[in-house]
Amino acid sequence: MSDLIPHVIDGEEVESASGARFDTVDPWTRSTYAEVALGGADEADRAVTAARRAFDEGPWPRMGAAERGALIHRLADLIGEHADELARADTRDMGKPITDARTKDVPRTAQNFRFFADHARLSAGDVFPMDTGHHAYSLFQPAGVVAAIAPWNFPLMLESWKVAPALAWGNTVVLKPAEDTPASATILARLALEAGLPPGVLNVVHGYGPDSAGAALTEHRGVDRVTFTGESGTGRIIARAAGANLTPVSLELGGKGANLVFDDAAIDNAIDWSIKAVFTNAGQVCLAGSRLYVQRGVLDEFVSRFVTAAEKLVVGDPTDPATQLGPLASEEHFIKVRGHLEGIPAGARVLTGGPPGDDSWVIRPTVVLDAPLDSRIVREEVFGPVVTVHPFDTEAEAVASANDTSYGLNAMVFTENLSRAHRVSAALNAGTVWVNCFFVRDLRAPFGGVGDSGIGREGGTFSREFFTEPKAVVMQI
Ligand code: NAD
Repeated sequence: MSDLIPHVIDGEEVESASGARFDTVDPWTRSTYAEVALGGADEADRAVTAARRAFDEGPWPRMGAAERGALIHRLADLIGEHADELARADTRDMGKPITDARTKDVPRTAQNFRFFADHARLSAGDVFPMDTGHHAYSLFQPAGVVAAIAPWNFPLMLESWKVAPALAWGNTVVLKPAEDTPASATILARLALEAGLPPGVLNVVHGYGPDSAGAALTEHRGVDRVTFTGESGTGRIIARAAGANLTPVSLELGGKGANLVFDDAAIDNAIDWSIKAVFTNAGQVCLAGSRLYVQRGVLDEFVSRFVTAAEKLVVGDPTDPATQLGPLASEEHFIKVRGHLEGIPAGARVLTGGPPGDDSWVIRPTVVLDAPLDSRIVREEVFGPVVTVHPFDTEAEAVASANDTSYGLNAMVFTENLSRAHRVSAALNAGTVWVNCFFVRDLRAPFGGVGDSGIGREGGTFSREFFTEPKAVVMQI
């Protein structure tokens, strides 16, 4: 990696016209490791113009899905060949353990590109037999220029959730990665060119959100779709910006996942997944099971074994392959999470972890028992390695507690009772319910949230709906 991370616009690696740059910081060393081109309205406009030209005049939307798919598969091959470089980029940008980046994020990214390429190629349209002497069918045509605004917690992988289906369906893209995690997006755009995607098909513009490249993209009238993953508050701002242009918007927002462990759960399995659900990626996961509800009959055993397992997690240098929890992604985010820990109300018991004692940006796995249900740490998305544990007695009480949130991204249920598993899954107010597991995805299934967790769904045909303009053709026979 050079000491400048450039934009990639119309097939060229470029700086901003003004020469403006910002620093990118490695959260483990807490020092700047590179400068990044700082884009604004000018760069957003150049990138949208390039994407528009590639869409209106270039071959990309006019190729068949098979030809496009072959190029996207070639990109997936290159992602595999550059897996170490990509994994190191995300680890250095946000402190993700290198083993997670290398064995999960990068392979999943390549898999997303392959899946959406194949899905677009194999998708059928609809046929509507009419008894009036007419024949009606649907076409799914590319929407145009897609602005993709991404968060920092799974930089490359979450970018692929947007870029892969958008490209597979024939759109052109302007991607703005989060300001804390710029590196892997520039590498991705470089690899896309190497794979043979025409210039202008995948552009990357770096910068911040408000009054910067992010806002400029979401307000741009030349954009046909805005796809955003990030905080619920930012989602509201982006929805307003897109709404002003009547641009369809997809919002994947925050969460406050409930995890229900019933007396009849397979306890080893429940502990294993519950640990992963809240401490993976140092808890910087929208899907984190950060509210843990445990039925009283199993409470003491579960909590004591859960705390022991949390204390065994290897915390430290994210570049060490043994590390399971690195630092938080940035100083700003570290200060926010530390504030939550310092604000834990009296009466709650911190069973392990708590406010950090040194000056690193590491927060140890933290388990809090008996926090009042109306306290900030229970109600707000902490986005750190912090879980609150609450006892319950009845199934109805557990469901009511789980649903007592403005969010609705996901929930987990641990039970060996088949009827209860179905009943509770149906009653939970969430876009995804995992039963006896966590984070398992079928890329054809809908993914998204209700309430403050977002608008729209990703995955298979759900991504097709968003990234295409479905058209009805009606013919007289
Ligand atoms: P964020 O909202 O601060 O930033 C996300 C992106 O939006 C960044 O690229 C940022 O530069 C940009 N942005 C900020 N303000 C903007 C504006 N006014 N206009 C345009 N762009 C703007 O979120 P974050 O801190 O990067 O990510 C963490 C959040 O993302 C958490 O709330 C988490 O739950 C959520 N998240 C949700 C999902 C999901 O699938 N639902 C997945 C991952 C993360």
